[in-house]
Amino acid sequence: MILYYNIPDKIKNSIHYEGDERIYYAVPFDIDQNADWVSDSYLVVTTKKICVFLNGEEQKSYDIADCTAAKADPRVGGGILTLTHKGVEKIVVHYSAKHLSRYAYIARGINILISGRFEEVESKEYEKTCPKCGRAIPGTKTCPKCSKEGGFLKGFIRMAKPYRKSFFGIFVLMILAAVTTLLNPEIQKHLINDVLKGDGGMKRALVFLALMFSLSIGIVIVNILKSNASARLGAKISSDLRSQLFRKYQELPISFINDRRPGELLNRITGDTMYIRMFMEDVFCNLFAVLFIFIWDVIFMLILNAKLALIAFIFLPVALGITVAFRKTVDRIFRLQFRRQDDVSSDLQDVLSGMRVVKTYGKEKAESEKFKNLSFEFARIQRRNETFWAIFSPLLQLIMGLGVLAVVYFGGIDVLGDKMSPGELYQFVTYTSLLFQYISWMNRLPLQLAQLAACMDRVNDILTQEVEKEDESVVSDVRINGEITFDHATFGYKSYQPILEDLSVTVRPGEMIGIVGASGAGKSTLINLLMGLYEVDDGRLLIDGRDAKTIRKKCYHSQIGVVLQETFLFSGTILENIRFSKPDATYEEVIMAAKRANAHDFISDTPNGYNTYVGEKGYSLSGGERQRIAIARAILTDPRLLILDEATASLDTESEFMIQKALNRLTDGKTTFAIAHRLSTLKNADRIMVIDKRHVAEIGSHEELMAKRGIYYNLQMAQNS
Ligand code: ADP
Repeated sequence: MILYYNIPDKIKNSIHYEGDERIYYAVPFDIDQNADWVSDSYLVVTTKKICVFLNGEEQKSYDIADCTAAKADPRVGGGILTLTHKGVEKIVVHYSAKHLSRYAYIARGINILISGRFEEVESKEYEKTCPKCGRAIPGTKTCPKCSKEGGFLKGFIRMAKPYRKSFFGIFVLMILAAVTTLLNPEIQKHLINDVLKGDGGMKRALVFLALMFSLSIGIVIVNILKSNASARLGAKISSDLRSQLFRKYQELPISFINDRRPGELLNRITGDTMYIRMFMEDVFCNLFAVLFIFIWDVIFMLILNAKLALIAFIFLPVALGITVAFRKTVDRIFRLQFRRQDDVSSDLQDVLSGMRVVKTYGKEKAESEKFKNLSFEFARIQRRNETFWAIFSPLLQLIMGLGVLAVVYFGGIDVLGDKMSPGELYQFVTYTSLLFQYISWMNRLPLQLAQLAACMDRVNDILTQEVEKEDESVVSDVRINGEITFDHATFGYKSYQPILEDLSVTVRPGEMIGIVGASGAGKSTLINLLMGLYEVDDGRLLIDGRDAKTIRKKCYHSQIGVVLQETFLFSGTILENIRFSKPDATYEEVIMAAKRANAHDFISDTPNGYNTYVGEKGYSLSGGERQRIAIARAILTDPRLLILDEATASLDTESEFMIQKALNRLTDGKTTFAIAHRLSTLKNADRIMVIDKRHVAEIGSHEELMAKRGIYYNLQMAQNS
């Protein structure tokens, strides 16, 4: 069974298999030790050995029984896979950056094989193939390319589909507007020919004028109705799109949100949806009317006077040619402009949300300078764009003006030679102007489409992101007892760079575990895994012996309480903020929780008590007070598992005392993981876990670890001194 990738039969057959030996992994690599590109090169891992095929030939082979560890190390522009073989670390293959994640998996797989846990390797679902294109897909995801295929137009049509009734209504109005627009020159022709020139008398003239007036009123009414309907539809589409995006943001894994700048995510919801609305209102809703009028206009012109029509049409390819010639430039400068605009708003959003840090480090000037540069660059591109249009538009108008002039000239000759009536010439000139007017409108279309394509791309990028669906087998009614086990768990924010590796530890129900380690050792990462924000890449996280992945997130989250260093308060009252963890909690329950969290007294002292407005622009609470709100939030749900992240750091003694007492009440009898910088705050912990170099370096009670004279002992000594 090959778990990863396919290899040519030639290589598969050239391996010497012993007994029931099978291939586990077979993956290509693309560079050699001199960083030269190679082809037809593979790493093949069987149940017994690891073979390297370079340029189609077997180069090296290592018995798994002689290996003790495998490691995938990222390097500049790629990485290396090393094996500890007979006690010596050897570089096995080199590969470029595109293989980084794959080799990280392989290294972990080899380590599992080395430790003899074969079933674990076999039970893993590594690489699937996309049903559409056959591309290899890592993990359980669907092919990202296929899910986005179809281009923006398909995406746009998909998005517009639910509103087809409204579109149909607008379409009917557009046709009405087009018919009335085309009818006007016909009436004008009769007015000139039959009445003015044919001396039809004032009475008939008035009839025609009344007809023209009614038609104009009709056009105005139809246009008002059309604009109204398209504005309503545009607003509805953008509002629905905004809600869809917002819902998607809630569903997407935290890693997706973390990988993007907040400003960028905000822009998708505000800027892009606004443009899509504008496009709907101004362009899409006129598009069919314009095409309809355009086609009829051409037909009428040909019927009226084919010679004059052809004269007018000569100018069309010129206008079209100019548009096509500049198409690429238009596309490029506008895409550039959107990108710069995005940069400016993203930067603004980032700086505004990080204003405290900016001010603390006195970086106002540097940030202003950076923003000024971005803004200047945006203005420069905008200026360039406008200059371009300032030349491009009049050039087109000139060509069209020449077209009308030619029609008047040759038509005038026909009128003088009695081959055409003045009314017909007037009608023809009106049709010609209309034709050019719509050509000019259509000229902006590629640009508007380019802008729409950019927006749709970005919106679709979010909307088509795969949301990891919970399995059918996931249960939603487990009562957590509190035994937590990390079973050979490995995790990295980037799959090829593990932060925690092969972590194995069991925490008993009700136990309090202190987590200690240098900054960046992975303490918060461990907490993130416990909170279910990320899933382990390898190994398992077990809750009461059950794989955490098989417990519904909602059920799991309702049984964990979290008190973090920084408590986030939403804009709302204190009551709402405490109730955040349990929206259906009664007022009495909230007060009870606040009392147990030592928060009731200070809440009573605020201007409106529990109804005091906090959060941004609201009443300011101190760090300690915020933490007590967080403790009250946690108490309210009576969680089975508690996570405290440096909960008593940076507080005055009074606050610390109050918080410590509240925490003691909260943690009583519950499995608790507590990170602390100040080791003294961990004196209540049953055991202390020291994380170092991606592993649990030490674990035991304070006394045991002190007696060990290892990392914990050194940290204690350093803090005491
Ligand atoms: P600690 O809490 O012990 O200070 P962390 O768990 O926060 O350490 O970080 C461990 C490592 O993971 C650090 O190298 C850090 O840069 C990296 N890291 C933390 N959060 C993220 C993230 N969201 N994305 C990528 N890397 C991260």
